[in-house]
Amino acid sequence: MNAGCLLGQALAVDRDKFSELVTKKIEENPYIEIIKEEVTKINDEEITIIATGPLTSSGLEEEIKRLTGQDRLFFYDAAAPIVTKESIDMSKAFTADRYGKGESDYINCPMTKLEYEAFYNELINAERVELHNFENGGLFEGCMPIEEMARRGSQTLTYGPLKPVGFGKLGDVYAVVQLRQDNSEGTLYNMVGFQTNLKFGEQKRVFSMIPALHDAEFIKYGVMHRNTYINSPKLLDATYNLKGTNVFFAGQISGVEGYVESISSGLVASLNAIALYNKSASISDDLLNKLEDIMKGKNIIFDKHTMIGALADYISSSHDNFQPMNANFGIFGEENRFKSKQEKYEFLSKRALEIISSYIS
Ligand SMILES: Cc1cc2nc3c(=O)[nH]c(=O)nc-3n(C[C@H](O)[C@H](O)[C@H](O)COP(=O)(O)OP(=O)(O)OC[C@H]3O[C@@H](n4cnc5c(N)ncnc54)[C@H](O)[C@@H]3O)c2cc1C
Repeated sequence: MNAGCLLGQALAVDRDKFSELVTKKIEENPYIEIIKEEVTKINDEEITIIATGPLTSSGLEEEIKRLTGQDRLFFYDAAAPIVTKESIDMSKAFTADRYGKGESDYINCPMTKLEYEAFYNELINAERVELHNFENGGLFEGCMPIEEMARRGSQTLTYGPLKPVGFGKLGDVYAVVQLRQDNSEGTLYNMVGFQTNLKFGEQKRVFSMIPALHDAEFIKYGVMHRNTYINSPKLLDATYNLKGTNVFFAGQISGVEGYVESISSGLVASLNAIALYNKSASISDDLLNKLEDIMKGKNIIFDKHTMIGALADYISSSHDNFQPMNANFGIFGEENRFKSKQEKYEFLSKRALEIISSYIS
């Protein structure tokens, strides 16, 4: 059964065939027992992997709050787009913190009055995603999409997130879009205040009207939908283990996003669940010396220069504004020492494959 194909640069998946294939594989595996019921209690004396996804049932949410000691799970209700630093036109942007507070963590993208007006008109008329019923009402309180804020009046943004003040004299600048560093390596930046419900194509079209972002590479678009995930940077280590417990989280609830990313987190979590199990098994010293690390109960942490390792590192490292992350070259945090993007990506892919091959062998 063929469930996926390459569509341009993206991997397109027939969702029904894909789920059918995964279900079939699991059903055929003699080592897996399937129990089809909602889980609402976790016995944390036993080694457990929780992989209940972005729509984790409310019964289990309560249990996860108890396990993690968090009074609320994150709702990915409002994420702003993220762009790569190397795609920002720095000849049209400047680095500074408003009122000189901080250490110039922001890249500022100025617009003249004419540029702002053109951007504004497209923003308020751009096509939006329709929300599901369960995503409406209450969930987005206190967090308004940028297009909604703009609709309240042409000056709402220039007195709000786009206000051109706190930077000293800026000449004919009428509005300033701020980009905030999103990863510790400084290769990714998120658009401050740009949580949005616009369709992805519309985000690219409208946000690229900001002069410094005319060629911006969006590695994530803004979204506003329900998405349950835990505060992994605080709670998990790079093995997806809830620190100091028998519980692992995998899939989107752990803060990765996408099919392949969820699978990769499941692989790391399950290898480490086996290692944790073996740690408590009584094995003679003689046998221990002959065993692989995993059998000895040692953690399996993938190198950060592989995508599996980079994702695990991303979700378990601190972030000001943690949002689920998909696989992308930006999280490798490589310096800009390449002549072209192609050269860089080829280098990163080759190195990752070499490391992965050494793990396999
Ligand atoms: C419309 C849409 C389109 C998408 N398209 C793509 C795409 O093209 N490419 C891509 O890479 N990603 C895509 N994604 C994202 C992708 O679907 C998710 O990142 C991925 O499925 C997450 O996997 P998961 O195993 O963590 O969660 P899920 O796939 O959601 O699986 C979790 C399972 O746990 C079950 N569950 C929840 N609570 C309980 C409970 N208490 N007890 C027992 N079971 C429970 C759920 O019913 C569900 O079956 C898309 C998402 C959406 C919503």
